[in-house]
Amino acid sequence: MSMNIRANGGPDELLRKVEALSAQRLANCYQCGTCSGGCPLVGAMDLLPDMLIRHLSVGLPGVLERQTFWVCVGCDTCVDRCPRGIDVARIMEALRQIHLRERSEPPALAHLTDTQLGELPPIALVASMRRSTS
Ligand code: SF4
Ligand code: SF4
Repeated sequence: MSMNIRANGGPDELLRKVEALSAQRLANCYQCGTCSGGCPLVGAMDLLPDMLIRHLSVGLPGVLERQTFWVCVGCDTCVDRCPRGIDVARIMEALRQIHLRERSEPPALAHLTDTQLGELPPIALVASMRRSTS
């Protein structure tokens, strides 16, 4: 069965789609910050993982314009440490999938500094390639 993952309906619709794709309930997050505290890539993110979840949960706009979910390498450190059992990596992947289907622009790698690019995990480059070939 195919799933419509369009998020054109706005932030609330984006939350619904992220939860459907990731099979995670974001309201279970109590904002302890443990995920961000253990993430090795926060230095290259423009929104910490816990704040990204918060932005999604309260319906703040602009989440799909962020770079955080492209920078996430899917290492699962946050998943192992989350006291609420939330799979943050799956939330990041859901955002990548939605972005790939919704946006015409590829990930803005050009907006990152040389230092950030040097530290960028391969998944960001792979994701950029996926965007241009999907
Ligand atoms: S570790 Fe889990 S409960 Fe804590 S902020 Fe991150 S996602 Fe939310
Ligand atoms: S899975 Fe992503 S968000 Fe979680 S610790 Fe690893 S890089 Fe950070």
